[in-house]
Amino acid sequence: MLNIGLVGLGVIARAQHLPAIAANPSMRLAAIASRNAVLDGLPSYPDVAALLAAEPEISAISLCTPPQGRFDQAMAVLRAGRHLMLEKPPGATLSEVEALQREAQAQGVTIFASWHSREAAAVDPARDWLSDKALKSIAIEWFEDVRKWHPGQDWIWAAGGLGVFDPGINALSILTKLISDVVLERADLHIPQGRATPIAADLRLKAGDVPITAAFDWRYERDELWRITFETDQGTLLLEDGGARMSVNATPLTSGENHEYARLYARFHDLIKAKQSEVDLAPLRLVADAFLTGQHHPTDPFHP
Ligand code: NAP
Repeated sequence: MLNIGLVGLGVIARAQHLPAIAANPSMRLAAIASRNAVLDGLPSYPDVAALLAAEPEISAISLCTPPQGRFDQAMAVLRAGRHLMLEKPPGATLSEVEALQREAQAQGVTIFASWHSREAAAVDPARDWLSDKALKSIAIEWFEDVRKWHPGQDWIWAAGGLGVFDPGINALSILTKLISDVVLERADLHIPQGRATPIAADLRLKAGDVPITAAFDWRYERDELWRITFETDQGTLLLEDGGARMSVNATPLTSGENHEYARLYARFHDLIKAKQSEVDLAPLRLVADAFLTGQHHPTDPFHP
């Protein structure tokens, strides 16, 4: 039985992590650490350091805090010799995640940088279908209402919080699971006055000769649209609902329930048993490139 500690009891921890851990018979939530939240019936600590000091039987930690500030928490976990699972994005910068990888290796523990959208039901079937097709172009549309999905979250508007790349990186995580060697050509970042991160972004990318566009927008006040269109020599593959549904030439082929987090925790456990780690920085690298080279366009102030 794997004893897990969870750090950062916020929206995603409650919605996905707690149910996924509870449904996995080989693991047990043993404690949480959160500054302002407690869980009835479980030891609850104000921060990760207190949890690690008091709970030597907890051998794995799942970090569900925002990316800014997560590095010190993650380092504390690894230096205490515990396995570590990171919510996406795995860090606020590439260099800090690389430092975490080196520390995990030095300590002989597992580090798992999770990308939940890669576990959506139709992503693997899409990869299989695409494997013998010639790609012509790819178009990503990732539109949602920030007020619906991130109410009251100030950290997403602060430097390191990614802004609209917080959902957009999910699309990029799917893209980089399906297609290799993706390169950013141009980024246009639409940043509300007084904020550090974009509310919308338009990217031009390529993989070899295949042109790729990505449009991310948080000002979409309808039901979310999370779609990737792959044009190939043998028709059009549509990946919809964040990777949950796939159709080819308008014929539905695959759809499935959301088991993203169940699959992530199963993978984390498998990695620990195999004494392995998994950190793929490709999605975060593309976002970093967009912030490095992006053209800034000031837009209207955002009022929550
Ligand atoms: P959230 O609701 O703000 O929860 C994060 C929790 O972390 C907070 O409740 C807070 O709990 C704790 N925390 C520790 N340090 C913090 C700080 N400096 N600022 C703010 N909170 C801090 O955020 P979330 O939506 O769960 O997202 C957390 C991570 O999961 C992000 O990396 C996000 O990209 C990822 N994620 C989110 C979703 C989603 O739909 N929301 C989906 C997938 C992945 P205490 O105040 O009790 O410490």
